Order: sequence, then C-alpha cells, then structure tokens
Amino acid sequence: LDPHREFQKFKLHPYVANLLRDGKIVQYGAKTAPVGGYFSIPKLYCKGGLIIGDAANLFVSQKIKGIHVAMKSGMLAAEAAMDALIRDDYSESSLSKYQKSIFQDKIGKELYRSRNFHQAFQKGQWSGMIKAAFQYLLGGRIIRNRLPSEPDFVHMRMLAGPNRVGSPTVEQSGDIIYDGERTFNKDADVYYSGTIHEERQPPHLKITDIDLCYDRCPNEYGNPCIRFCPANVYEMEFDEKTGKPSLKINFTNCLHCKTCDIKDPYGNITWIPPEGGGGPKYTIV
Ligand SMILES: Cc1cc2nc3c(=O)[nH]c(=O)nc-3n(C[C@H](O)[C@H](O)[C@H](O)COP(=O)(O)OP(=O)(O)OC[C@H]3O[C@@H](n4cnc5c(N)ncnc54)[C@H](O)[C@@H]3O)c2cc1C
Repeated sequence: LDPHREFQKFKLHPYVANLLRDGKIVQYGAKTAPVGGYFSIPKLYCKGGLIIGDAANLFVSQKIKGIHVAMKSGMLAAEAAMDALIRDDYSESSLSKYQKSIFQDKIGKELYRSRNFHQAFQKGQWSGMIKAAFQYLLGGRIIRNRLPSEPDFVHMRMLAGPNRVGSPTVEQSGDIIYDGERTFNKDADVYYSGTIHEERQPPHLKITDIDLCYDRCPNEYGNPCIRFCPANVYEMEFDEKTGKPSLKINFTNCLHCKTCDIKDPYGNITWIPPEGGGGPKYTIV
C-alpha cells in the first residue's frame, strides 16, 4: 500500500474535494503511530533513563490517541526523576517506580482495557468488533489474557503472483494527476515538509542485508519500501545493460516517520538519528 497515494485519492473524493476547494497547502509531514498496544510496552526504565510517550508505545491504539498518555507519562517520569535527584540514586531499582506508577495511573488502566484491541480483529471484522466492544466495556473481565495474533496479520501478505521486481510504484503509473493544487506528488510534498539533511554523511537508514532486497524481497513482498515510504526515499534502479537492480536510498528526503523501520517485512531497515540535526522543519505548532 502507498499511503501517500491513498491520501491523494481521498482528497479527490467529490465530498472531500468540495471541502478543500480554495484551500492551500500549508505543510506536509508523516509519522507512524505506535499501535502495538499494551502488550508491546517495553521496560520503561534503565540506569539513568526513562522512556515516555510514543517512544515507549504508550499509545491507546483503540482510540488512536497518545497525547494525554505522552503528557501524563512525562509528568510521572518527572516525579521519578525528581525523586532520584533528591536521593542521588539513578539505579534501575530506584527508577523502576516510574513503571509501577504508569500502570497504577488512569492511563495504565486505559491501556490495559484496550489491550486486545488489534488481536480481536484477527478473525475478521464482525467478531473483532464484538470482542473489542466487550473487552472495552467490561474492562477486560471476560477476555483476560492476551489473544493470540500473528505479527501484522491484517496488512502483510506474501505475494502469490510472479516476480514483481521493478514493477512501477503506483505513483509512477499515472492514474492520478498531480495538479500541484489539491494533489501533490511525493517530491513536491517533501518540499512542503521543509526537510533538509546534510548531504555529506552516511545515510541514517541502515540496510542490514542488501542481498535480501534483490533476492527474496522482490518475490516474497514486492519491495514494499518503494511504495510505503511517503517521501520517495527508496527507489529501485535498473542497469540499462544488465537489468541488474540497485536500491537507491534518497535519505535526504526522509521525514523521520519511521515507517520503513517498522514495516519492512524482514526488519532489514534500521532508522538512526541523522547527523547535524537534519529532518523536517515544521513551523506550525
Ligand atoms: C496523524 C496523527 C494524528 C494523531 N491524532 C491524535 C489525536 O487526535 N489525539 C491524540 O491524543 N493523539 C493523536 N496522535 C498521537 C499523538 O500525536 C502522539 O501520541 C503524541 O504526539 C506523542 O507524543 P510524544 O511526545 O511521545 O512524541 P512526539 O510528539 O513524536 O515527539 C517526539 C519529538 O522528539 C523529536 N526527536 C526525535 N528524534 C530526536 C532526536 N534524535 N533528537 C532530538 N529530538 C528528536 C521529534 O522531532 C519530536 O518533536 C496522532 C498521531 C498522528 C501521527
């Protein structure tokens, strides 16, 4: 799936197009929401460190809401940090009280109530809606334990068809006209994000095993990175003579959304902070 393209299609729907008439693009950005839920929350403390907000998967995936959880976890982390400062003790055991305070708080209880939200949908929409409603309304009293689920069972499927290496990205296929008023191609949108990176640095997107991108991924998943990236960071190029593919990484386009790190089917891409504080420059807060 190419989420950027889906968004352009959404803007072309007659109802939405009417709402947007005479509108003007202000900025562009992208960000992955951490919808893993309660069971994906990691250990929230280490010696001298606490993790808060989205970084800690503290996010109510049922409601797609994370601002209140991020704020409250920040407040509880500040209390734990203050306590550590007063006692001059930054050990793991001293900071572990932060994790306890999260789960005793209203936000911990809210995360717990919706803990099986995504798993509930593994067997389809209707059974999912019933299970999710029951667990939320009854606070998880009927389905207490973690419901089984496959990793990304909803969205990730292996290709059944033939080798699709080099199939054009849907953006290139020309079925949407990018008019620069209501619809924008990815390059134009990256411009509106104000993204700047120092060019002379190693790419901050690390590929662990590049051979996977040429040998297995085209056949098994069709190189999804060239579609799901909302900034055209990943491009597959082909040698004119030999036809040999090579993956080009336009890391300077990167919007820091982390989609590639999360959605690459093999976990083959790792996002690290770029040098020099580069990235999108959002000016509207
Ligand atoms: C499209 C969308 C809509 C949403 N709508 C809602 C909503 O309606 N209601 C709601 O409650 N939640 C909503 N959320 C979720 C909410 O925005 C997040 O849960 C919340 O912003 C998380 O706050 P945070 O401080 O943990 O992380 P962030 O807001 O992501 O802040 C992290 C900050 O760290 C900075 N940063 C990252 N790396 C580095 C680095 N190496 N060095 C220095 N700085 C760095 C980033 O630039 C960023 O400013 C939405 C999310 C998305 C993507």
